[in-house]
Amino acid sequence: MMPSSCRAQTVRVLPLFATVALLAGCRRAAPPVRETWMTMGTFATITLAGDDAPRMPETAAAARECMSALEDKLSMFKEESDIARLNRSAGQAPVKVSPAVAECLRLARHYADISGGAFDITVGPLVRAWGIHGGNAPEKPLDEARIQTVLSTIGIRHLSISNGWARLDQAASVDLGGLAKGYAVDICFDRLRAMGRENFMVDLGGNLRCSGHPRRGEPWKIGVRNPFERETILGTLALTGGAAVATSGNYERFVVIQGQRYAHIVDPRTGYPVRGMAGVTVVCTNATDADALSTSLFVLGLEGSKTALARVPSCQALFVPDREPMEIWITPGFARQFTPAPEYADNVRVLE
Ligand code: AMP
Ligand code: MG
Repeated sequence: MMPSSCRAQTVRVLPLFATVALLAGCRRAAPPVRETWMTMGTFATITLAGDDAPRMPETAAAARECMSALEDKLSMFKEESDIARLNRSAGQAPVKVSPAVAECLRLARHYADISGGAFDITVGPLVRAWGIHGGNAPEKPLDEARIQTVLSTIGIRHLSISNGWARLDQAASVDLGGLAKGYAVDICFDRLRAMGRENFMVDLGGNLRCSGHPRRGEPWKIGVRNPFERETILGTLALTGGAAVATSGNYERFVVIQGQRYAHIVDPRTGYPVRGMAGVTVVCTNATDADALSTSLFVLGLEGSKTALARVPSCQALFVPDREPMEIWITPGFARQFTPAPEYADNVRVLE
């Protein structure tokens, strides 16, 4: 018999380049330069086109400052953050929140709407009950009665927002984990543009957005990781013009209960961690959309995602269902930007 601490454990895999890898491929001098640091529970990387290399110190300093200021407001793990205060005040008076937090809460409502409730930042109690953020994974899967009790506290209707004030119903709690990193990438992206940077990429735990080119005339190239074999890539995405990419994968972060792996993304409609999907990668015009939609489509699955995708026509997606043999499903727009690796070319199917 294993000790209980071994039976139920939370596994956090370092997400640096876990979902995407910036492909090298620079033939001439002055290759892009990078700086990486830890923030918001993951790794952030700024890549600058080689010509801008001397500007890296001030650029990275601005990006660090920007992300860390957002972490202080958005992280539910920081006791004094707006989100932690909001969660602590559930069932009590409304809490004044900063404009960035108010905007995230408003956007979260919008994505809940687009996804038909699959994306729901009020999953906090469910995420906790399944031990997804570590520390308290249950020894055995939750039973139906417990799930129903937790589900009764979940739903975007339990969150009210008005003029910079937010309030949660009793026992509800907010988890911005499916959205905050993408939002931070966008804020940082705008800051770097305002500083005059034109050719760069911002990556926060696999949520990334690129501006301009790594070198004149070339697109940024991003490798999409194989969710079953993280050392290999399924293919390469070519990105231009401010495009953003996000990936949600069941290998990034998961909980092991009685030897069975449970994804870190839960389905707020059933109360269970999502099954059946290994990875979803989306390309959108901004990183907030990309982050929220990759999480949403991961919950919705291949068939269920059609309505949400139709509501955000600028968003393109790649799905890898969690089954063998491997299938790589891509939307027509994704197909135009994606070059499959030769060994996976036969696994690719285009969604109608
Ligand atoms: P991502 O890695 O961007 O797909 O986000 C996953 C994180 O979002 C999880 O670690 C939770 O913090 C949170 N989350 C889990 N399930 C959902 C959901 N259905 N809707 C919104 N956020 C979720
Ligand atoms: Mg997300």
